[in-house]
Amino acid sequence: MPRKRRIALIAHDQKKDDLVAFAVKHRTFLNACDLVATGTTGGRIAEACPGLDILRLKSGPLGGDQQIGALIAEREVDLVIFFVDPLTAMPHDVDVKALMRLAIVYDVPMALNEKTAQILVRNLDEAGAGWKDSNEGA
Ligand code: PGA
Repeated sequence: MPRKRRIALIAHDQKKDDLVAFAVKHRTFLNACDLVATGTTGGRIAEACPGLDILRLKSGPLGGDQQIGALIAEREVDLVIFFVDPLTAMPHDVDVKALMRLAIVYDVPMALNEKTAQILVRNLDEAGAGWKDSNEGA
């Protein structure tokens, strides 16, 4: 049986409220996916959406972004939604860059802001299960 689409969810601190609101809004869609998130982001979403099953990795600054990068390299992530804060210096900036680089290398769709995430989620929702199949082997 093919696995569900796996979506990685990450938000910098200043963007966590926005990602939580996004998750609440798109809860039905997310519920049909396999979700993985960095530690704090995953905790905030799980709190706002009881019942939503999320695999929580380490917090971003402690290696969570790199863990998601490793999943991308294993081809275990189908979409990354990462609400980035462009106005705050991050101690783990190099990890964020590495994650983005791997998403590019493996051609994984990646939304770095809310509008892009909305477009991708709407598109995937309409494409249904066929979306992942059409990307397999690419
Ligand atoms: P966090 O990590 O969800 O654990 O806060 C996100 C990040 O800052 O990369």
